[in-house]
Amino acid sequence: MSTGEVAVIGLGASGAASTRLLRRLGSAVYVSDAGDGAAVQARAADLRALGAAVDLGRHDLERIARAASVVASPGVPPDAAPLVHAREHGVPIISEVELGLSALPGARVIAVTGTNGKTTVTALVDHLLRALGRDSAAVGNIGTPVCEVALRDTPPAWLALEISSFQLHDTPSLQPAVGVLTNLSPDHLDRYPSVEAYFADKARLFQHDQPTSRWVINADDPASGRMCADLVGQVSTFSIAGRLGDAFLDRAHAKLVVRDAPLMSRDALPLLGAHNVANALAAALAVMVADPAHESDDARQRLAHGLATFRPPAHRLEVVGEVGGVLWINDSKATNVASTRVALEAMTRPTVLLLGGRHKGEPYSGLLSLIAQHCQRVLVYGEASDIIMADLGGRGAPVERVLGDFAAVMRRAHEVAEPGSAVLLSPACSSYDMFNNYQERGAAFARAAKGDTP
Ligand code: ADP
Repeated sequence: MSTGEVAVIGLGASGAASTRLLRRLGSAVYVSDAGDGAAVQARAADLRALGAAVDLGRHDLERIARAASVVASPGVPPDAAPLVHAREHGVPIISEVELGLSALPGARVIAVTGTNGKTTVTALVDHLLRALGRDSAAVGNIGTPVCEVALRDTPPAWLALEISSFQLHDTPSLQPAVGVLTNLSPDHLDRYPSVEAYFADKARLFQHDQPTSRWVINADDPASGRMCADLVGQVSTFSIAGRLGDAFLDRAHAKLVVRDAPLMSRDALPLLGAHNVANALAAALAVMVADPAHESDDARQRLAHGLATFRPPAHRLEVVGEVGGVLWINDSKATNVASTRVALEAMTRPTVLLLGGRHKGEPYSGLLSLIAQHCQRVLVYGEASDIIMADLGGRGAPVERVLGDFAAVMRRAHEVAEPGSAVLLSPACSSYDMFNNYQERGAAFARAAKGDTP
């Protein structure tokens, strides 16, 4: 029988914010985390002081099975023991996003999902809303938990929400003012049984589709088109591949055109790569369709200024320095083949590509033609080396395997890079074989690029 208690799984920033919000709402809370490091210990002490029961280093599965509901932190995979156990005992599981939004009934949400570009588009949407003078916060996977914003005395009127497929699965009441699907390609094959299962979670963005819904989708992506074919809401499209739509790149005049009028010139957008033009178009379109007031001449000027002053989030095609004529570019966030493809497409110099890490399931052969066009050398490293060499070796690609740690990879990059070339870390793999996360990998790259020990 349910105890009426809510079980929060995971004590990261979002688990802590969920617990605080639940306590504020008067719920009994049990929170548990498999880790017991210093950061979780400190959080645990704060939450116990608020009356929550906290377990570190273990999850009490019996207690979780008796809970009224479970709140899952974004980092906890669906097959983690506490979630499997909750499911087996019929305990409803909701995401931190679902909980946070339930406490923010008046917020106007622009929700962003897709395989690649989520963080960039979410940051752009937030930046553009602010450029229009709106009170906005960027929340969800991008960093700030929704529950944290819900705890504010005066929560923002607008939310730019980055939401992953895993979170969509457990956010059944999401009904955004505008929903954006950036693109779809196979990813997370390490965590999903099939591409279909992954796409099915993404499709939950549209679960409450109705004639008043507003959706922004990518006209250049057939998989998105198929997913959205039967929507009854208003669908607006963006394109960088010459298709006309509600927002597109006018190649002849190098202008971004949105809702029937030029918004700005391509040159004024300070982001590398055609994919970032797509991201900018998606964000501007979403903000415009969200509210008729965002389409006035004055609003358009503010949006253009907003795009021109946007800085890319770290670890995404981020230029970290030019040393001895060699440009070092950190794209550590590129953890799948599709994102490494767009990074290579954005290269205008002969490139030394650093490719490797922990394999996630996709073949690397999809990179061969772009490697032929852009790469003077590909340094292959890490756990995935065997698979990458099998996919790329012997097919004309200038691949070289580097044994040893990341420092060895960076030493080799310094040796082979020539003035006028670029060294690009865009590994198409996760970082977990050598680092705790992609941020640490990117930071090690940036340090070693400047000649420091990584
Ligand atoms: P996400 O949050 O979906 O992981 P990010 O904005 O963090 O997306 O970008 C991650 C990586 O994906 C970037 O380093 C870039 O290489 C690639 N990327 C960004 N935007 C796009 C896009 N629109 N299409 C394809 N790849 C993209």
